[in-house]
Amino acid sequence: MSTIEVAGVQVDLRHYIGGRRIESESTFRNSSPIDGSFLGDIARGGQREVDLAVAAATDAFPVWSTTPPADRAAVLNRIADLVDQNLSDLAIVETTDNGALLRSHLRGVMPRVAHNFRFFADWLVNHLGHPDFETRGHTNHVSWDPSGVAALITPWNAPLMLATWKIAPALAAGDTVVLKPAEWTPLTASLFADLTKQAGLPDGAFNVVQGYGSEAGAALVAHPGLRRISFTGSVPTAKTIAMAAAENLTPCSFELGGKSPFIVLADADLELAADLAVEQYDNAGQVCLSGTRILVHDSIADRFSAVFRARAEALRQGDPRDPETDIGPQIHPAHFDRVKGFVDRASAEGADIVFGGTPNEELGGLYFRPTLVNEPSRDSEIVTEEVFGPVLTMQRFSTDDEAIAVANGTEFGLAAVVVSGNRTHADAITSRLVAGTIWVNCFFVRDLRAPFGGSKKSGVGREGGTWSFDFYADVKNTVVAPQGWKE
Ligand code: NAD
Repeated sequence: MSTIEVAGVQVDLRHYIGGRRIESESTFRNSSPIDGSFLGDIARGGQREVDLAVAAATDAFPVWSTTPPADRAAVLNRIADLVDQNLSDLAIVETTDNGALLRSHLRGVMPRVAHNFRFFADWLVNHLGHPDFETRGHTNHVSWDPSGVAALITPWNAPLMLATWKIAPALAAGDTVVLKPAEWTPLTASLFADLTKQAGLPDGAFNVVQGYGSEAGAALVAHPGLRRISFTGSVPTAKTIAMAAAENLTPCSFELGGKSPFIVLADADLELAADLAVEQYDNAGQVCLSGTRILVHDSIADRFSAVFRARAEALRQGDPRDPETDIGPQIHPAHFDRVKGFVDRASAEGADIVFGGTPNEELGGLYFRPTLVNEPSRDSEIVTEEVFGPVLTMQRFSTDDEAIAVANGTEFGLAAVVVSGNRTHADAITSRLVAGTIWVNCFFVRDLRAPFGGSKKSGVGREGGTWSFDFYADVKNTVVAPQGWKE
C-alpha cells in the first residue's frame, strides 16, 4: 500500500525523489504514540534511495540556483500559502504521528511553518546584503551564492517545524535539498513534499528519503555529492555525522541537546516563576530548550515550590487531540523506557521525588506523569544528562556565584531562563551564563531575525536571519579595482 489515510488525510508512504514517488524494497512500521495504533509501513531508504535523491538534487541545482531571488522568494511564499491552506491536515497528521498537542499545532506550530517560508523569502529579497566598502579605492562586494546540495536531518519532537526551519533558508539560498526525517515521525514531511510540487518548486529541488538514521541517514551524510549538512538531534548522532562529513570536508551545522538551567532569583515574581516553570513540561518535556534544572534561591525555595507544585499538579494529561489536554504521551516505547529509566535509577539512589515519578496508570501506554526531583546530587545523571521527558529537577542556591557555577556546570549550553524582579541583577546573571539563548522573565519567545544555536556540546553554528544564509550559501567577496577599465 503506497498511501494511508490518517484522520481523513491521505499520506504517501514512499520517498519523494526528483518530483516522483519512489518505493523501497523494504519498509518500517510507524505507529501513533497516542494509543499505539498502527499507522503504516513506510518506505525504508538506504544507499540506493540516497544516491537517487542526491543525483536528483544535483540535477536540479543549475535551474534552482540560477532562478532569480525574487522568483525563488515567490515559490517560497506559495509554499507558505499552501501550508496555511492545509494547516488543519498538517496539524492532525503531526499530532497523530508524534503525540504533541493538536491545539499547539493548530495555533502555533503550523502557522510557524508557513512563517519560516515567508520570513526567509523576505530576508532573501529585502534584507540579505552587505554595503559595498572601499579598500584604497577598490570596491569590496559581498554576495551569498548558492552552494549546492544540502542534506537536512531532523528529529521527531517538532518534525515539520524543525525541518522547515532548515528547508526554507536552504531553498532561499538557492541550494537544493535532501531531507531525511526522523523515523518515528515520517508523515508530515511526505505531506509537505506534495505542497512543494503544487507550489511549483522545480522537481528535484526538494527530496525526501525516509528511513532509519543508521541506514538512510548514514548513507546520506557520507555522500560525496553534498555541499552542506544541517542536523538537529542528539550529541552522539552529531559525533557520528561529523566523522562521516570529515571524509568529504562537508560543512556541518548542528543543533543539539540541552540541559538548560531555570534560575529563580530571590527577587523574582513567584507567580510568574511558577507559570514559566510549568511551561518546561511543554510537549511532554520533549523540547531541547526546556529549562529542566530549576535553580531557586534558598530564601524563596519553599514558597516557590508550593506554588509551582500546585500549578504542575493541575496539568491535565491525556489524548493530545483533546483541546483540554496539557500533556500528551512520550513519542515511542523506547523513549518512554529511557525516560522512566532515568527516574527509576534516581529513585533507587534515594532521590526525593516530589510529584510524578511514574507512568500514568490510568492512561497506560506512553503517558509519563510530570515529575519533579528535589535536590538530586549535582553530579547525578538526572542533573547532568538530557532526559528529554517531563522530568525537572530542583536545586537550591544561596549566592549568585553558586547559581552561575551550577547553571554552567554541564557539557550543554543551549538555553537558560532567568526569573528576576531586578533588571541589574538579571543582567549580572545573564552576562555570565554560557548559552545560545537566554530568556529573562519569559520562555520560548523566538524571532527568526535572532541567532539560534547552542554553545559547548549543544551545537555548532547559528541559524536565523543572515546566520542561516551564511551557512547555506557560499559567501563570496569580489574586489574590483579602480584601474584597467576601457569604458
Ligand atoms: P537523534 O540524534 O537520535 O536523531 C535525529 C535524526 O538523526 C533522526 O532523523 C535520525 O534518524 C538521524 N540519525 C540517527 N543516526 C544517524 C546517523 N548515524 N547518520 C545520520 N543520521 C542519523 O535525535 P532524536 O532522538 O530524534 O531527537 C532528540 C534530540 O534532538 C535531543 O537531544 C534534543 O535535544 C535534540 N534537539 C535539538 C534541537 C535544537 O534545536 N538544538 C531541537 C530539537 C531536538
